[in-house]
Amino acid sequence: MTFLIYAYFCNMLENKNSSKTSLSDLGEFALIDHLTKKFGLENKSSHMGIGDDAAILQHGNKPTLISTDLLIEGVHFDLSYMPLKHLGYKAVMVNISDIYAMNSIPQQITVSIAVSNRFTLEAVEELYQGINLACKNYKVDLIGGDTSSSTKGLILSVSVLGCASEKKIVKRDGAKENDLLVVSGDLGGAYAGLQVLEREKAVFKVNPNTQPDLSNYAYSIERQLKPEARKDVIELLDELNIVPTSMIDVSDGLSSEILHLSKASKVGFHLFEEKIPIDPEISLICQEFKLNSTTAALNGGEDYELLFTIDQKDFDKIKNHPLLTVIGHACDNKAGCQLITGLGHQIEISAQGWQSFS
Ligand code: ADP
Ligand code: MG
Repeated sequence: MTFLIYAYFCNMLENKNSSKTSLSDLGEFALIDHLTKKFGLENKSSHMGIGDDAAILQHGNKPTLISTDLLIEGVHFDLSYMPLKHLGYKAVMVNISDIYAMNSIPQQITVSIAVSNRFTLEAVEELYQGINLACKNYKVDLIGGDTSSSTKGLILSVSVLGCASEKKIVKRDGAKENDLLVVSGDLGGAYAGLQVLEREKAVFKVNPNTQPDLSNYAYSIERQLKPEARKDVIELLDELNIVPTSMIDVSDGLSSEILHLSKASKVGFHLFEEKIPIDPEISLICQEFKLNSTTAALNGGEDYELLFTIDQKDFDKIKNHPLLTVIGHACDNKAGCQLITGLGHQIEISAQGWQSFS
């Protein structure tokens, strides 16, 4: 008991001591590096640990991949416009996207929830309807989890297990100079959708009787509320007989993901602004909100597209494919990561992605 009281006062004092480092000074990625740098891997079966979209375990002949994500009410989602069914669906997508980002197939998930007594049985059932639909659509089995009460709000944690043959697994670290940088689908949509939803929430607060007409924003809202992981792209790469040299999913924004590939692969990148795929609806929303659509693609995040590099010899196989766009190429590491604008100016890419602690 004495120890507990002592520990409590120490914590209080630490919080007051201004010489301590604030988490917002570090940012999410530096914090992860800092906390985990002293951990090595003891077990032979831990083939690859921290630092990629998923870890790789090697127990038998076939590797297993594992990844986990946490979603917190008020941080990652707002239940005033996020239906619980969509939240359940999205929680699964966010996770399985990390397995696809390793060119692998998700197979099992565990789901842990903490719910306050603000939620009814029917509400939690709705959440699980979304999880169930995602499991069916992506052929993933729910195999366990944990359930707890929370003092306030909803917390959701999903872990996913996947598999692939060893030759097929793609990490972040294999890009070579002159490889082509490719992205699936289009970018900036989830961020544009968030702007629309936040605006409608503000309007609703002032006048709860208004019914918003969201028909012009359907695609962007779907990108925010019900994203799909790119299973189709992994299947396409398999059909085309392409194994990317490096890959990551776009969860934090294109800038942040390019910098991750660059750091892991020790190459620079040239990214051509005019090549970044942006849906016409998203361009219109950006105009309406006076946002730069390139900025939405670079820093918006939550698009869950796949960003990867391929050897130039594979270019003919993907050329003009509607799902894939070549947006740049890898170059010498010393050149860094540069955005080449329409006018030919070079701007160094910096990550302004998800800053959890600011
Ligand atoms: P992603 O955006 O693909 O979900 P993250 O940026 O969350 O990836 O994580 C990057 C890497 O750091 C991953 O390998 C992840 O498992 C690891 N990681 C994240 N948070 C922690 C933590 N608190 N402790 C240990 N490893 C972590
Ligand atoms: Mg990822």
